[in-house]
Amino acid sequence: MSQEVAIIGAGLSGLSFALALHQQSIPCTIYESRPDAPLNIGGAVMLSPNALRILDRLGVYDVMRTRGYNFTKLEYRNVASTSGPEDTGVVTETQEFGGAEKYQYDGLRIYRTQIIDTLLAVLAEKGISIRYGHKFTKVIEETAEGVTWEWADGTTGTAAVLVGADGIHSTVRKYLYPDLKTTFTGMAGITAAVPTAQLEAPADLHMPVTFILPGKGAFVIAPQGIDGSEILIGKQRRIGENDLTREEWATFISDKEGQAKFLQSDNEGFPDLVHRAAAKISHDRINVWPFYIVPKLDTWSSPKHQRVVILGDAAHAIPPSAGQGINQAFEDIYTLALLLGGAQRREKKDPALVQEALKFWQSHRQSRVDQVLELNKQIDLRRVPGGEDVERKEFDLAWLYTLDPDQVVQEWLDARR
Ligand SMILES: Cc1cc2nc3c(=O)[nH]c(=O)nc-3n(C[C@H](O)[C@H](O)[C@H](O)COP(=O)(O)OP(=O)(O)OC[C@H]3O[C@@H](n4cnc5c(N)ncnc54)[C@H](O)[C@@H]3O)c2cc1C
Repeated sequence: MSQEVAIIGAGLSGLSFALALHQQSIPCTIYESRPDAPLNIGGAVMLSPNALRILDRLGVYDVMRTRGYNFTKLEYRNVASTSGPEDTGVVTETQEFGGAEKYQYDGLRIYRTQIIDTLLAVLAEKGISIRYGHKFTKVIEETAEGVTWEWADGTTGTAAVLVGADGIHSTVRKYLYPDLKTTFTGMAGITAAVPTAQLEAPADLHMPVTFILPGKGAFVIAPQGIDGSEILIGKQRRIGENDLTREEWATFISDKEGQAKFLQSDNEGFPDLVHRAAAKISHDRINVWPFYIVPKLDTWSSPKHQRVVILGDAAHAIPPSAGQGINQAFEDIYTLALLLGGAQRREKKDPALVQEALKFWQSHRQSRVDQVLELNKQIDLRRVPGGEDVERKEFDLAWLYTLDPDQVVQEWLDARR
């Protein structure tokens, strides 16, 4: 049986996990169902210090920092009682998203393609292979030594460990939870990228900003690109109680005119810069992000031999309120690689350590994800109609942004000596 780790999925979780394993001298191969380049969905994403610290330790932060828009906070403005069309309302709340002094890193808004390209370049440099056109279908056998699985073309693969980094609709997860269904929240984020100049925003307007019109909704504006010369604009769209079929989603997503109209319409009551922001939208810069939830899972690894593991969106898709989806995935991959590396180095002395490490990983990561879900809930409470009355104390996010995964893992390993 091969000693390597097989990673299913070349998304951000899969690519970064491979790099983290390499750092621990654990051999791995990434398998991706797509025929060539990794999935590049959704324009730019926001990375917070907890994830940036990890990217730094993986040796890719210095490059990424120069390829994205650095910022420290998100601002929320209530536009319910503005005095005129150019009035941008009152700041009701700010949310820290970074800060070099306090958290070592500013927040970074960076195109997903920039993260992917940076990771791909480093993986190539290190000789880590990505095999495209490999669609995982099912686990055939798991033993104490490893896993055998089947590809869509009927051939099989084997590895010591199989890791499902295959996203929210994970097929690897089916091995652990054959009947699990993701829950569609009924909502989707509709976004577009437009030139910042189009807004004609006042020079003193802080961005990223979310304009909130109580009872009506929110309109998000977030700069991207190194110089912020482009912005993402976005609103949430109610789709309906029931999930769409694959075909219906394809039709919905390809209806670019419909998405552009949605961003442009029903904006009465918002400042004029919102109208200008949405006035001209290039169809090829529109994205649709349907919000699904993965129910809380008892375990992220197969119970008997723990040779099949899931992480990232496959284990815990996180709704967007606190902007932690991708950031939590980076915590998953790095902590797991550190634990596997540490445990393997001591395996001869302590053969049960790998199993124990996986259990610790799950409980540590789950408690962080739970805290993020609670933060999401608190943020959402302020955004629903009537939420204006919720006390506006700034969230203390030190627990989220200052985590040092190396220290967490070292302390756990030391306690096992
Ligand atoms: C439009 C959009 C915008 C988003 N914006 C943000 C944002 O601003 N901030 C944020 O934090 N999150 C955002 N998200 C969520 C974020 O993209 C996910 O949290 C993140 O991509 C999860 O990474 P992942 O690697 O775990 O999964 P994915 O990115 O979904 O990657 C999974 C990979 O596995 C491959 N795969 C799937 N099945 C198989 C199989 N059977 N065999 C082989 N390969 C397979 C897929 O092709 C894919 O490459 C957004 C999502 C969307 C759709």
